[in-house]
Amino acid sequence: MQDEKREIRSLLPEELEAELKALGEPAYRAGQVFSWLGKGVASFDEMTDLPAALREKLGRAYLLSAPELLKKQVSARDGTVKYLWRLRDGNAVECVVMRYSYGSTVCISSQVGCRQGCAFCASTGLGFIRNLSAGEMLEEVLFSEKDSGVKITGVVLMGIGEPLENYDEVLRFLRLVNHPRGLNIGMRHISLSTCGLVPGIRRLAEENLQLTLSVSLHAPEDVTRRKLMPVAAKYDIGTLMDCCTDYFRKTERRISFEYALIRGVNDAPRQAELLAGLMRRTHGHVNLIPLNRVEGSPLVPGDTRKFAGLLREQGVNVTIRRRLGADIDAACGQLRRKEAT
Ligand code: SAH
Repeated sequence: MQDEKREIRSLLPEELEAELKALGEPAYRAGQVFSWLGKGVASFDEMTDLPAALREKLGRAYLLSAPELLKKQVSARDGTVKYLWRLRDGNAVECVVMRYSYGSTVCISSQVGCRQGCAFCASTGLGFIRNLSAGEMLEEVLFSEKDSGVKITGVVLMGIGEPLENYDEVLRFLRLVNHPRGLNIGMRHISLSTCGLVPGIRRLAEENLQLTLSVSLHAPEDVTRRKLMPVAAKYDIGTLMDCCTDYFRKTERRISFEYALIRGVNDAPRQAELLAGLMRRTHGHVNLIPLNRVEGSPLVPGDTRKFAGLLREQGVNVTIRRRLGADIDAACGQLRRKEAT
């Protein structure tokens, strides 16, 4: 991006402190600024307990952006809210606020577009444009919370994009959203979903975070997985499973393996058996996803209850993902796709 000024919402409190010190300000100002940023202010003028001169100084030195609401859809069925936000460079990102009995979770995008090219995914058609900054990911959370009036208690990085391809900004975002003086969302209330980038998973294991790692598996054998996900040609299932086993050993956090069930492609009894074997090896559990149909795609959903039954017979821990917001295109890149066509 062309911005010359540094984006202030991407800064951690200790960085903010150093920056303000360089501007000749006392350290406590950093705490004030950070807490305003975490409240979702859209301009420095909203930081009412700062002297006007300091607000001006900050405005000259830093960029403080706020997304603009392009579209909002509320599900009549379950209260799910889907947002399409316009970023400062005109690109659009989508995120979804989902309400559960235990709290509300926001599903955010980590990139504008995606370059992974999975056959079943609506995000694929529009290609990849750019990574989001940590501050922009935080904006998705803050402004969705502000607009919906719903207190956000969890975050899932399962929107558009591959988070481990935007590793540094995603990690920075996690630190910001987890910060006690920020939104203070616990790592155990955060999930990160990857298509299976082995080097990224290995790097994440070293951070030893208590978040939930979800790995999009979608097939238990290479030949099928390669048909669905180009990334499978780069890392075969054996390599991915070794990496996942190491991740579990290192973090003691069980991995959730996502499996979108597609009739005639990955729903055969033999595939349930193979999948069960992989789960025994990695100590993971399966999150079966009812396939969301994408316009123009020939792929058809399989019978999740039946397949879940086969997995349970093999002793696999399995959950079936609830379909929230099905009436508002809440699934996987569908809103941005509609807007773009
Ligand atoms: N790039 C990351 C995160 C984004 S997608 C990843 O691949 O995991 C979040 C999840 O939704 C992934 O498991 C993805 O495979 C799944 N998904 C994408 N399109 C889908 C569809 N049409 N139906 C069901 N699940 C889908």
